[in-house]
Parts: sequence; structure tokens; C-alpha cells
Amino acid sequence: MTDAELPHSSHAFRLWREAQHTYSRTRLGGIYYLLAWLLVWGFSAAPDAHLLLGLGTTAFFALIMVLRWLHRLPSGYDEDRLRRWLGRQAWLVCGNALGWGLVQAWTLQAIDFAPSQSIAAINTIAISAAMVFIFSMDRSRGTLAILLLYLPGLAVLLPDAAAHLGELVALAFFLGYLLLTLGHSHREYLNTLELELRLLEQQESLDHLSRTDSLTQLGNRYQFNSLFQTLVANARRDGEPLSLVLLDIDFFKRVNDEHGHASGDACLSAFAMRMRNVFRRDSDALLRLGGEEFGVLMPNTTLQQARELAERFRQELAQTGLDLKGQRLPLTASLGVGCFDMLLDSDAEAFFKRVDSALYQAKSSGRDRLVLAPAG
Ligand code: GH3
Ligand code: MG
Ligand code: MG
Repeated sequence: MTDAELPHSSHAFRLWREAQHTYSRTRLGGIYYLLAWLLVWGFSAAPDAHLLLGLGTTAFFALIMVLRWLHRLPSGYDEDRLRRWLGRQAWLVCGNALGWGLVQAWTLQAIDFAPSQSIAAINTIAISAAMVFIFSMDRSRGTLAILLLYLPGLAVLLPDAAAHLGELVALAFFLGYLLLTLGHSHREYLNTLELELRLLEQQESLDHLSRTDSLTQLGNRYQFNSLFQTLVANARRDGEPLSLVLLDIDFFKRVNDEHGHASGDACLSAFAMRMRNVFRRDSDALLRLGGEEFGVLMPNTTLQQARELAERFRQELAQTGLDLKGQRLPLTASLGVGCFDMLLDSDAEAFFKRVDSALYQAKSSGRDRLVLAPAG
């Protein structure tokens, strides 16, 4: 998914980012458990004497490692699928944590594993510190994973609490510290996410502004250029009709001269509104190409359909003119209409020129008329 395709509701965006972060942070973690276990086993007093336990545990960590590696993030955005994916991934990570908690507990009570006790302890501390980072987006799962790492060891130490008082107090301190840090890291994660979302929204609104004509709120020339290329490419690929209507207000300079530039502006806005009322399909793209020249891109619309609508627009405008602050302003427009034709139009530019020539003809043959671009 590219940034442009990111889900934009803040709820969906949070979930999608959480899944993405979980994936990148947890995908390879299984390797660590496997290597740590091999160290604990390998440096125990008698690895050969515990062959079955050694190989069984190796197989367990190897299996979770592979499952974590293979558990790919679903493509696209589907809330239920993402939630299920997050749930499964959390089970795998927590399964890993519990496995390690049991290893740690085992080293605390099996004599042969006494030499590996500190290796296990170092790894427990390292893994639990990593959990604070890995689960910064999900505090409850992070807490569960950390507890799973420590509870089995605690269960071994607690029955003889007096003998292990120092270790137990240190552990309680450390666990408390980890959980506080997890809370802190969670809040920071949410803040960063909020910032990212705001940045995306700003980017989107800037993008919208750069593509919108501020006077009429129609798409501007820049928007037309990119959309036109895309729609022509689609029409060429799918063989669906794509029509283009070009409209130019007649004698607009006079409006400015007689009523002032502000009224000219109001006239352009009213003209755009009139266009919206006639070219109403969701797929129709209404654009101001510059000055008093406008365009309508109509995908999946035949020449005949485009002509009917455009002619209706012209006639209604000629009959009623525009309403400017309660005053009727007589106004007409000249129109060129064409439909993309693979045989005639080598590219988008050629198609535009063909329709523009029709508009020019409408102007030169008297204005207030519609001319169809010659078809093949
Ligand atoms: P024609 O029938 O040949 O199209 O004549 P016209 O007067 O409409 O065309 P011309 O190109 O001679 O003049 C266009 C005028 O549109 C000149 C310009 O001042 C005016 N214009 C262009 N952009 C704006 C704008 O944003 N606001 C206002 N008020 N006028 C504009
Ligand atoms: Mg004009
Ligand atoms: Mg013009």
C-alpha cells in the first residue's frame, strides 16, 4: 500500500499502522529465542544428558520462529482481517514469551542448568526490555507478554521466598519499572501516531488545494492535466468511451468591462455552479482550465450522451443567463464536444486538440453554439 492508499479515518489509520508496526517489529524476533535457548542448553553442565529436552525445546522455538516469519500481513485494508492477524501474531509472541519464561524457571531449579542461570537471566531481561518497545502500541498485550516471561520464574522462587528475598525485591522493582516504561512508551507511540495522521491530513488538504481552483472550487488546470492523461489511458485500455466538453464564455471581457471585475468573478462562480447542476454524474470531472474556459471530462459517456447534456447546458444558459445578486445577466457560451477515438487520437494531446478545434469553430462561426469534433 502506498501512502496515498492509506486508510484515512483516524480509527482505520491507527489499526493499519499498528498492524504494520507489529509486523516489522515482531517478524524476526523468534530467532533470538532460539539462539538464547541454544546458549542456555549448550552451556549447561551436561547438554548430552538432556538431549530430549534440548531438542524438544529447540524444535519448539524453531517452530514459533518459522510461524512468526511466515505470518504475513494481509494486503489491503480489511478491519476484521487485520484484527485477526494482530490477535494471531500476539499469540505467537506471547507463546514465545511463555516458552522463555519456562526456560528461565527451569534453569532456576534444575541443578545441571545452574551454570546457565545467568545466561537465561540476561536474556529474560533483554527480551522483556524489548517487549516495552515491541508492544508500545498495545499496552495490555505488552503487559501480558512481560508477565509471561517472569511469572514461571517467580513461581519457582516464591515457595522459598526467604532464601530469595533479594532477587524477589529486585525483580519486583524491575517489573514495576518495565510496566511503567511500557505505559510511557505507549503514550509516546500514540502521540507520534497522532502527529503522523495530522501530517497526512495536512498533506491531503495541500494536495486538494493545489488541484482546486479557488474561485469556483472546480478542479484546476493542473488537476485536468493529470486526470486527462489517466482517463485517456483508461479509455484506451478498456475501450470505454471518454467524452470531453470544452466550454468558453462568450464576450466575457465585456462582463468585466461593464460590471467590474468582482462581478466577473461572481459570474465565473455562478457559471461553475450551473455546470454542477447539469453535469451531475459522480464520475464527471468538472474543471476550470483557465480564465473563462471550462472543461468536463466524462468517462463511460458516449459522444451522443455528452452532446445532449452539453446542448442542454448551452440552451438553458442562453435562455436564462446567470443570476448575479438578484440581477439577470444575459450570457452565452460556445462549446466543443468530442469522444476519444483510438484511430483518430494518437494521444491525449491529440484528443484535446481535436475538441479544442471544435470549440474554436463554434466561436468563429458565431458563438452560442455547440460543435462536435469530427469523428472518424
Ligand atoms: P470570446 O467570446 O472570444 O471568448 O471573448 P471573451 O471576451 O470571452 O474572451 P477574451 O479571451 O477576449 O477575454 C477573456 C476575459 O476573461 C479577459 C479576462 O480579463 C477575463 N478573465 C480571465 N480570468 C478572469 C478571472 O479570474 N476573473 C475575471 N473577473 N475575469 C477574468
Ligand atoms: Mg471567452
Ligand atoms: Mg477564452
